[in-house]
Amino acid sequence: MKFIDPHVHMSSRTTDDYQAMQKAGIVAIIEPAFWLGQPRTEKGAFKDYYSSIVGWEPFRSSQFGIKHYCTIGLNSKEANNVPLAEQVMELLPLYAMKDNVVAIGEIGYDDQTEAEDRFFRAQIELAKEVNLPILIHTPHRDKKNGTLRSMDVLEEHGIDPKMAIIDHNNEETAKAVLDRGYWAAFTIYPRTKMGSERMVEVVKQYGSERIIVDSSADWGVSDPLAVPKTANLMLANGISKEDVHMTCYQNALDAYAQSGNMKESDWENGVTFDQSVLYGGNSVLRGQDPVKGTASDSDIIEN
Ligand SMILES: [Zn+2]
Repeated sequence: MKFIDPHVHMSSRTTDDYQAMQKAGIVAIIEPAFWLGQPRTEKGAFKDYYSSIVGWEPFRSSQFGIKHYCTIGLNSKEANNVPLAEQVMELLPLYAMKDNVVAIGEIGYDDQTEAEDRFFRAQIELAKEVNLPILIHTPHRDKKNGTLRSMDVLEEHGIDPKMAIIDHNNEETAKAVLDRGYWAAFTIYPRTKMGSERMVEVVKQYGSERIIVDSSADWGVSDPLAVPKTANLMLANGISKEDVHMTCYQNALDAYAQSGNMKESDWENGVTFDQSVLYGGNSVLRGQDPVKGTASDSDIIEN
């Protein structure tokens, strides 16, 4: 089967991850702009990061046969540095217009502060201006209230629920998000709150409409193979191939294709790669022989 992981922070991952993801059937990924763990102190640090996820990382991904897209936004945590956040806001429209950008995100609340609210709203307005979907990061603390509040704010700004993907859902938030017409994404965290087993139960309960599975793999304990692993567990538990296809591929495509920048034809016939090609004078190789070819179905290891 083919999969899309619509939330994965590849800048924090290794080439081994790319290879394993490609072998497991992941054909396309979305890298949301996020918090790097180390707080940034300058506008230039954001600029370089955004440049990397619209430039270098799509190149790196392509070298392993995976099509790469990203979302652009100021994360909620760093929105609390108001003077810097104001400067970052000036950068966003520039990057939001780049070719591989499929949403404004991930934005929303962390601690639900006044500053977070201010920059969340400003970025919703930006999404409206550039006509892009919105990826919402729901808070890990006080999740239920934070999620409801995020949807309230989106509605105050007149956002069509079909244009917003609410991420990091769990059993507590799923019903409200689906009932209100949003895309409900679930991040599969290994050995914690939202694991693959619980995801199987969510799909059994709610079906596959508007439900999206992602890994949100980053620099912390996470698993870039969470989407294919969850898909396999769903199949093993009697969930239909069609429902697995919807939750692990098609819904993400339908949600983010609304940007006009993500199409199946980008990877349908395999992503062609040539490791002898350079980006800004750099390659992913360290003295190895460059490989070229097309990553296709035949490379996928079915298990
Ligand atoms: Zn994330």
